[in-house]
Amino acid sequence: MAKNSDRDEFSASTKRLLERQSGHHCSNPSCRRITSAASSDGRTVISIGEASHITAAAPGGPRYDPTLTNEERKSPENGIWLCKDHAKAVDSKDPYFTVKLLKEWKQQANEATWRSVVENVPFPPAPSTPTDDELRARLMRAAAADLAVFRRAGKWPASSICVSACKIDPLGGVIGVQF
Ligand SMILES: [Zn+2]
Repeated sequence: MAKNSDRDEFSASTKRLLERQSGHHCSNPSCRRITSAASSDGRTVISIGEASHITAAAPGGPRYDPTLTNEERKSPENGIWLCKDHAKAVDSKDPYFTVKLLKEWKQQANEATWRSVVENVPFPPAPSTPTDDELRARLMRAAAADLAVFRRAGKWPASSICVSACKIDPLGGVIGVQF
């Protein structure tokens, strides 16, 4: 694990930029929660947002890209504003959170805040339709979970099994898995 000093952390101004570009909302399109508020006594701010790295700040981190320079790694282009829950999620070792997916989230969030400010469209917008990549990733995870259950069962069933995404023909046979 890299020492903190080896990490290409965002500057305070970069964090602030990302927060303002997202309109102080989580950029995950299925979350969109507000990430800052006045404290109950009105004296300060409660913040539950975080600037996350799209590609990791240090080797060994998720989506680390060794081809980037240190400056590129800590630039606003490599950041996305998320609530703390989703910042934690994308920092975990889950292959679901790809560079492509996080860039899509950021672009959607920035477009939504832009439309809200420029065209006075309500924010947050209605939840977006999942992209093809998101659907594929969900299907793969569901199929993997089904198979894991059967592996743990110790004995394969005598008949064919149907994972989450398979089709059944009218006679009950499995036609195939569609991804
Ligand atoms: Zn969130």
